[in-house]
Amino acid sequence: MTATQIARTTSPAVLDRIASVTLSSVVLPLSDPISDAKVLTGRQRAMTEVVFLFAEIRTEGGHEGIGFGYSKRAGGPAQFAHAKEIAADLIGEDPSDIGRLWTKLVWAGASVGRSGASTQAIAAMDIALWDLKAKRAGLPLAKLLGAHRDSVPCYNTSGGFLHESIDQVLENATRTIGEGIGGIKIKVGQPDWAEDLRRVRAVREHIGDRMPLMVDANQQWDRPTAMRVSRALEEFDLVWIEEPLDAYDAEGHAQLARSLDTAIATGEMLTSVPEHYELIRAGSVDIIQPDAPRIGGITQFLKLAALAEHSNLQMAPHFAMEIHLHLAAAYPHGAWVEHFDWLYPLFNERLEIRDGRMLLSDRPGLGVTLTEQARAWTVDTVRIDAAR
Ligand SMILES: [Mg+2]
Repeated sequence: MTATQIARTTSPAVLDRIASVTLSSVVLPLSDPISDAKVLTGRQRAMTEVVFLFAEIRTEGGHEGIGFGYSKRAGGPAQFAHAKEIAADLIGEDPSDIGRLWTKLVWAGASVGRSGASTQAIAAMDIALWDLKAKRAGLPLAKLLGAHRDSVPCYNTSGGFLHESIDQVLENATRTIGEGIGGIKIKVGQPDWAEDLRRVRAVREHIGDRMPLMVDANQQWDRPTAMRVSRALEEFDLVWIEEPLDAYDAEGHAQLARSLDTAIATGEMLTSVPEHYELIRAGSVDIIQPDAPRIGGITQFLKLAALAEHSNLQMAPHFAMEIHLHLAAAYPHGAWVEHFDWLYPLFNERLEIRDGRMLLSDRPGLGVTLTEQARAWTVDTVRIDAAR
């Protein structure tokens, strides 16, 4: 044992130690095969399931935290395998020192990089540590971080996909508004963009001029098409146009952002803070859309939020509203949270929505617990309780 290790084991500042990490791979089936523009352009198959990586961390002092990441179409087994390989590095560590533990885990897997599946494996554990810290403090995560608001405007994505007819999308929109959700997002980016415009017009006429409406092209336009269609979309008073271009085309997004009145939003596909930093530096976005499980967890999200705040960006985090409600509430500038009903079967708790906004609850931490159904959908699990 080195002198540093002895000092750490004897320091009165060490409040608790991580005793075990339980990792679970959970396959959530979707009721309908889901199609966005990536399916219509032939780049991806329709999505039939989402694979979640849950991390449950317990301490010697009896505290617990839960976190999760996810993958769509591919990557679930890779995230699980990587987490399983590095989780032992958490055993015996003080769970409060989250930044140091993130760095330790990323160095443990440094040869496979600081983005993508490797960092996403860390995200589940990082989020569990934040959940644990907030629960120990008896606070909702947003309050631990410091909330700027106790509710966040929310919009619905799960009713606007391209596998559904326009009549079905209109029916979904009516239901969404009836549920108190504050905005509607529909998918565009089809090979025939005239059909996109027809759907947007139909939805705008159906929901009226006042209801916030967004569109999402899922990266399927090239630069000239994005410019032409986005200009045609200006008349619909959209809150934003999402992913008009390839996720890594920072300059192309910047050209659009400079040329249009409608806000440009992107960022969900990026898998690290440095990748997001490229968008911010290039002036690519008005509204940044980070995804905490994709960029390495809450520790990384907070670094990105500081950069975005400094650049006066609005924020609309992607997916995983159970996590992002807290992070959007803690963001100083304007923020939205994305509503998906897909994850409802996984959690015992339901987020409250009223008057267009999603409300923070007084439950400590993330405020979620896994259902028996989620346990039943577990396809692989491992409990790690010994340091390597
Ligand atoms: Mg999107």
